[in-house]
Amino acid sequence: MSVAAGSKAKSDDEWRAVLSPTQFKILREKGTEPAGTGKYDRFKEEGVYTCAACNTPLYKSTTKFASGCGWPAFFDAIPGAVSRHEDRSWGMTRTEITCTACGGHLGHVFKGEGYSTPTDERHCVNSVSLTFTDKNGKTK
Ligand SMILES: [Zn+2]
Repeated sequence: MSVAAGSKAKSDDEWRAVLSPTQFKILREKGTEPAGTGKYDRFKEEGVYTCAACNTPLYKSTTKFASGCGWPAFFDAIPGAVSRHEDRSWGMTRTEITCTACGGHLGHVFKGEGYSTPTDERHCVNSVSLTFTDKNGKTK
C-alpha cells in the first residue's frame, strides 16, 4: 500500500466485508467504471456526495458540472477531503485522487482542459466511489 490512508483506514478483509465486489474493485483496487454507466454521471440534484466506503463528505453538488466525459465531474472538492497522488500507471502521468479519511480510490483530477469552471480542474470520479445525499438526508 503506497497510499497513505487516514483515520478510517481498514484492512482489505475488513473492506471486503462492508463493500460490494464492484465497490471493492474500484475503491480498493483502483478500478474504473465504464464511461457513461455510472448512476451519477448525468445526475443533477442538490446535495452532497460522500465517500461510498466511509461516508466522509467529499463533493457538493454546487461544484458538479456537465463535462460530457462519461463520469461525474467536479471542479473542486470539499477542502481537505480529497488527497492527490502521482499515478504513473498505463504509461501516463496522472494525478490520482483518494478519500483522505479512508484512502479509497475516487478517480483522477485533470487541469487546464479549458472548461469554463472557477478552477479549470476536472475531478473525474467513479459513481461507484460516491453516495449522494439530498438536503433532506435521503440517499439516492
Ligand atoms: Zn472514504
